Amino acid sequence: MIDVLIIGAGPAGLSAAIYVERAGKHAVCLEAMTVGGQIVNTPEIANYPGIKKISGFEFSMGLYEQATELGADIIYEQAVKIRETLNPEEKGFTVLTESGKEFEAKTVIIATGAKNRLLGIDKEESLTGRGVSYCATCDGAFFRGKDVAVNGGGNTALEDALFLTNYCNKVYIIHRRDEFRGEPKNVEAVKSKENVEFVLDSTIDELKGDRNLEAVVVRNKNTGELREIPVAGLFIAIGQEPDNVAFADVALLDEKGYIRADESCMTETPGIFVAGDCRTKAVRQLTTAASDGAVAALAACAYIG
Ligand code: NAP
Repeated sequence: MIDVLIIGAGPAGLSAAIYVERAGKHAVCLEAMTVGGQIVNTPEIANYPGIKKISGFEFSMGLYEQATELGADIIYEQAVKIRETLNPEEKGFTVLTESGKEFEAKTVIIATGAKNRLLGIDKEESLTGRGVSYCATCDGAFFRGKDVAVNGGGNTALEDALFLTNYCNKVYIIHRRDEFRGEPKNVEAVKSKENVEFVLDSTIDELKGDRNLEAVVVRNKNTGELREIPVAGLFIAIGQEPDNVAFADVALLDEKGYIRADESCMTETPGIFVAGDCRTKAVRQLTTAASDGAVAALAACAYIG
């Protein structure tokens, strides 16, 4: 029986693993994709207290090494269901994975983060990997010398655009408003680049191209005017969505699909905790993910006793 089974090995999950191991209990993380979660793709982190500047990859590797050196195990499996142990005398849970494995644990921390939000327009799926991308750090270098567009007005879009200005001939930032959700410091940094053009108050109506992306058609929401912008790449950075449906029978979801929890990160099911971006909260940042991980881990250890 595992002490604390953590679903997800991103910043929240790995922070939880560090705190569980340091509290003298054993942590096992189930990870469906890559260790580090979405932060792996962030070119530069400059707002984590105590670290002036670090790449997302380096930060993730640091978390991974710290957790595993303390004794945490990482198992590459996708959790698809949490079942309460049938025997009422025995507190605990069974976590089932996509490959059919079952893990028995005294407590569970859900730290599944969030997945990229899709635009939801025609050809988005068929052109993914053929010009459409959700990760500038991963794919930016393929567009060296070409014209590309970034869609979104948050920190991800701004940082993606800034990163792409190093490789690309021209970077269009297409955003549905004329104000940015991202930090002013990032906005200023992008504005200072000569090869950036802002296409504001605009949404993407259509993707053009069959084998590869050739252009995007944008609609100005004030004038209704349509403009075709020839680009080889489109980086969609319009935020994230939770992916918690698999846990809806043990954890209460809010109207947007995030998991509700109390101050100690405990869900409506005693013994099941939630940490990081998949939780209902106001601020989703690396620091708050790490903080949730610590809170959930210590609460889980206290629950075990
Ligand atoms: P975000 O802050 O939620 O921003 C998403 C952007 O996409 C918003 O500008 C939003 O427009 C736009 N958008 C949403 N749905 C759309 C749709 N269907 N069509 C067109 N546009 C749409 O997401 P994010 O930039 O990925 O950031 C997520 C979190 O991570 C934030 O808390 C952010 O601060 C944090 N982050 C931090 C750093 C850093 O500190 N270094 C780096 C990256 C991300 P509206 O503004 O009009 O809603």
